[in-house]
Amino acid sequence: MPSSVLCSPTHEADQFSNRLNSLIKSRKSDDLYRSRRIVETPQSAQISTNGNDLLNFCSNDYLGLANDPRVKSACVSGIEKWGVGTGASHLVCGHTGAHHELEEALADFLQRESVLLFSSGYAANVGVINGLLSEGDNIFQDRLNHASLLDGGWISRAKHHWYQHRNYHDLEETIQETIKDAPKNNEGINLIVSDGVFSMDGDECDLKKLIGVSKKHSGSVMIDDAHGIGCIGENGSGIVNPEQFTSADVPILVGTLGKAFGTSGAFVAGDKSLIEFLIQRARNYIYSTAMPSAIAVASLKSLDIIKNESWRREKLQENILYFRDGLSLNNDSEILMPSKIAIQPIVVGSAERANLISQSLEKNGILVSAIRPPTVPNNTSRLRITLTANHSIQEVDRLIEVLSECLS
Ligand SMILES: *Cc1c(COP(=O)(O)O)cnc(C)c1O
Repeated sequence: MPSSVLCSPTHEADQFSNRLNSLIKSRKSDDLYRSRRIVETPQSAQISTNGNDLLNFCSNDYLGLANDPRVKSACVSGIEKWGVGTGASHLVCGHTGAHHELEEALADFLQRESVLLFSSGYAANVGVINGLLSEGDNIFQDRLNHASLLDGGWISRAKHHWYQHRNYHDLEETIQETIKDAPKNNEGINLIVSDGVFSMDGDECDLKKLIGVSKKHSGSVMIDDAHGIGCIGENGSGIVNPEQFTSADVPILVGTLGKAFGTSGAFVAGDKSLIEFLIQRARNYIYSTAMPSAIAVASLKSLDIIKNESWRREKLQENILYFRDGLSLNNDSEILMPSKIAIQPIVVGSAERANLISQSLEKNGILVSAIRPPTVPNNTSRLRITLTANHSIQEVDRLIEVLSECLS
């Protein structure tokens, strides 16, 4: 074939980009278009983008560790010791002493036998579910579970079942329906999966009820506590309090390092048998380069801070209460969702309205992103406000003031 044929745009190529452009256009006209902003400063309560200084109320850096000098210098010393890249997957030659030390420290922190690191929470969820389940198994998911949990379910080819958000009666009925139709000798896994703290609503799964239903029907529970670990619980161990719930209650516990830890990566915690099994079977663990060792060294420092500086959780809690009290004083108290944690969403309805309010907040120096479908159900577009331990009371005051103006 002459090279000119390969280089000239073909009719098919034109059609392909026309198709994409028309999909992008309809996203724009539906107010669902997404774009990235270029941030010019490290994560902090104040950030700068396009030369504008903004108060940042949409980061998941809940404890303010992403730019902590101690975490940074741990990372730098990690690079000095280990270099940058790991060169291979964990199973080939990429699993270093730094990874191993972090795994052992996390296992100790969460009081589980073993921990396995992944390169992100998304990867951990897909890897765990796809590693554990296959055709013939069932997965039961809360309707508002994180996208990565849903994707893991789809890829695994297990049968997918939904239950209504935090409705454990509905979960039980769904399981009963499923079991009723199953062949008598079916030995498949029934995996019940829930966010610990829901990422878009900020409410919590009722772990006792969930475990109760699971035990009654021989299910296995997987909790993704991406927003809980580090932030809630006596010493930051999250919603699955190890003093109260063992691995017999919650055999699979997932957490991320990208939020409260302020670094990057994720982990799954459980019994040795779970971790050994995942090392054999989790495809995105096996076929993916190990996270940089320096990130593991930095995360180990974050873990140390999480354990020893409980004032960060207290400060975060103070900011949350202050924000909730202040905003309900100026507005209808119904405006807030029943969230006790750092995620404080304000549901405003249409995607258009969410965009407009987010834009007017930004004009007034406040950065809060509009969360729209398909991330949240239709007509529940929202401003997803997140508070951190780094915000001062004055900054939260400013948020309340500007937000009240923009909402009225
Ligand atoms: C953020 C989040 C993830 C993904 O974690 P990353 O480390 O950012 O990939 C998974 N689950 C939930 C509930 C989350 O909120």
